[in-house]
Amino acid sequence: MVCEDCEKKAVYISLSGRGLCSKHFKKYFETKVIRTIKKHGLIEYGERVLVACSGGKDSTALLSLLWRLMRNKRENIAAIAIDEGISGYRDVKLKGLVEFCRENNIPLHTYSFKEQYGFTLDEAVKISRENRLKIKPCYICGVLRRSLINTYARRLGFSKVATGHNLDDEAQTILMNYLRGNPSLLARLGPKTGIVEDEGFVQRVKPFYFCTEKEDTIYALLTGIEVDFVECPYHVENYRLEIRDFLNRLDSTVPGVKHGLVNNFLKMLPLLKREYSSRSLGHCRVCGNPAAREVCRACMIVEKIKPFLRG
Ligand code: SF4
Ligand SMILES: [Zn+2]
Ligand SMILES: [Zn+2]
Repeated sequence: MVCEDCEKKAVYISLSGRGLCSKHFKKYFETKVIRTIKKHGLIEYGERVLVACSGGKDSTALLSLLWRLMRNKRENIAAIAIDEGISGYRDVKLKGLVEFCRENNIPLHTYSFKEQYGFTLDEAVKISRENRLKIKPCYICGVLRRSLINTYARRLGFSKVATGHNLDDEAQTILMNYLRGNPSLLARLGPKTGIVEDEGFVQRVKPFYFCTEKEDTIYALLTGIEVDFVECPYHVENYRLEIRDFLNRLDSTVPGVKHGLVNNFLKMLPLLKREYSSRSLGHCRVCGNPAAREVCRACMIVEKIKPFLRG
């Protein structure tokens, strides 16, 4: 197959059968991202954006792209990374990110669970297992990471947090919440997250929302971003993994299933947001972040783990 625009060898074939060479694929990908940002108002002119980086290919590719797009306003962009303390995994990933930011002169703010909460994720998981606390690793990881990113985005004066979530991630989250019967969580999804406006919340935006995992991977490879396949050791305990495999199997027999799921969901999203936006939030009495209860979910996890810490 050759490129539709220049007849060079195609590196990518779209769902509609369009072939693109590396140069035209990059243009296609970047145009799609810029269109998403503009159409959904993800980043307004003059806004300060903090890119949440994991050291993985998606968030690094996003950082690289936004860094180039905002070349005239570099003071408005920086990266943030959270070291949860997952031995042999996050330390490896973050090394690559630190190197990437150093090479490109991108400011990077890093925080760790250990210094912020007094325990690593590995320690929290061990404590939870030994004491039958029944808190899943991904729950601890996700809740504490999001809380730290929100806290520091606010303290550092950023108005948006950009994440590398793509169409595959969104399709998985939509299906997971459908199957769990979680309409209020569904209402928080979309290219811009959140339903309740609160000055304590820094809105999260997803510029790769309409890009597939495959497109992200090709883009990362073509822009020289290292793509590794190191998996988190807690990945196997993740329900998302089963949903991901299910959707991939389905998409290989019925191409476009993931696009269909996300696009149809977007038609219902305004109704969901309207239904759930009236619920007001208070603020956590421990950390001050917006919370539905007196103590936020992050502080509740910390309260459960801390009594078991030694020393
Ligand atoms: S798989 Fe779970 S524990 Fe591992 S990084 Fe992802 S959310 Fe955290
Ligand atoms: Zn071409
Ligand atoms: Zn709290």
